Amino acid sequence: MSEILIRNAWNILTMDDAGSELDGADMILRDGIIAEIGSDLVSEGEVVDASRCLVTPGLVNTHHHLYQTLTRAVPGAQDALLFGWLQTLYPIWARFGPEEMRISALTGLAELALSGCTLTSDHLYLYPNGARLDDTIEAAQDIGLRFHATRGAMSIGQSDGGLPPDALVETEAAILEDSIRVIDRFHDPREGAMVRVGVAPCSPFSVSRELMRDAALLARDKGVMLHTHLAENDEDIAYSLEKFGCRPGQYAEDLGWTGPDVWHAHCVKLDGQEIDLFASSRTGVAHCPCSNCRLGSGIAPVREMIDAGVKVGLGVDGSASNDSSNLMLEARQAMLLQRVSRGADAMSARAALRLATRGGAEVLGRHDCGQIAVGKRADLALWDIGGIDSAGSWDRSALLLAGPSRVRHLFVEGRQVVRDGRVTTIDLGRVIARQNTLAERLAM
Ligand SMILES: [Zn+2]
Repeated sequence: MSEILIRNAWNILTMDDAGSELDGADMILRDGIIAEIGSDLVSEGEVVDASRCLVTPGLVNTHHHLYQTLTRAVPGAQDALLFGWLQTLYPIWARFGPEEMRISALTGLAELALSGCTLTSDHLYLYPNGARLDDTIEAAQDIGLRFHATRGAMSIGQSDGGLPPDALVETEAAILEDSIRVIDRFHDPREGAMVRVGVAPCSPFSVSRELMRDAALLARDKGVMLHTHLAENDEDIAYSLEKFGCRPGQYAEDLGWTGPDVWHAHCVKLDGQEIDLFASSRTGVAHCPCSNCRLGSGIAPVREMIDAGVKVGLGVDGSASNDSSNLMLEARQAMLLQRVSRGADAMSARAALRLATRGGAEVLGRHDCGQIAVGKRADLALWDIGGIDSAGSWDRSALLLAGPSRVRHLFVEGRQVVRDGRVTTIDLGRVIARQNTLAERLAM
């Protein structure tokens, strides 16, 4: 039995239904869950002094393409719009293989962990040169983050009028077959699962209508979730109207892509009707504010979504379009961006942090994560509020206004993945060195 006592936390933001905050409380983590919360708790296990720490649930990242950490800040793509950005990067990604997938995933996962993330999804939709979803799942297991891998796919290449080069697309039969393989091999439906698998065609413009429909049927058959990109920008809406004769929300609904087991990335351009559809069907949204700013896509109507009852989480999106994987900064950006369009009272620091924790857990169907309560998984981020970032703050729990964007300690399933600001589970120096070598090789 492994046990850790977190003692005398300066404050705990529980993210429970009432938004309770606990001053000076202790917590015992035992066998992967939060076993006790109270004062003057006693334990035989390791003791972590949290007297200068704000404790939050581990942050939840609902959208990423980890492999893209190898193509950050590529000069030709730095200032391009979405479709041009993709066309610049596809030929580089076509040279990836298993090692590129694994090292880039470790890099992105480590950056997420250092920014407080304990649970992340990933959307891998290209498999060149023998790369497999397994490469990224193994990376997540090595570093010890809770991981929702999604088996992405593209089937419409340039010769069929699509954007990606033919070398990066697969046949739809092969996509479905491999999706079944990875679900059967890795998906764990149980509470406390460290790995789950979802089905995730890249976007409505990179696969056929048939594959969208078949993917939904497969996911329902296997009891796994569905994920894709939707309504990202004006070009996306125009494409949908021209090719499908309807808006993206309608297209999604027609093909079985709404429901509590579905979440869509971006949704920057959802209209009022689509927001109501997502709310009534309990469809989730991964809001990616930095990516939306970076690619000039627009400001997602997140305030309207939340008010309508849509489940919203946050995503850093791929590191080629962010270019960071810092989820804490992403939450700050979400707060700021809503204020740009709706005024200073559009989203508070606590509300944005709630999206980054409880909101994301709900989007990913993880009711065992995203909040601090007895019986929930022991996924915790401890933020040092005694340093320069918080100095002079009158409300150190308003972390997104003034506070650190890197954790001091991070626990996943009760295991310490970050201690005193350093990743404990992998040799990060070696990963960074290898990552830079691979990036240099790709740039040649
Ligand atoms: Zn994306």
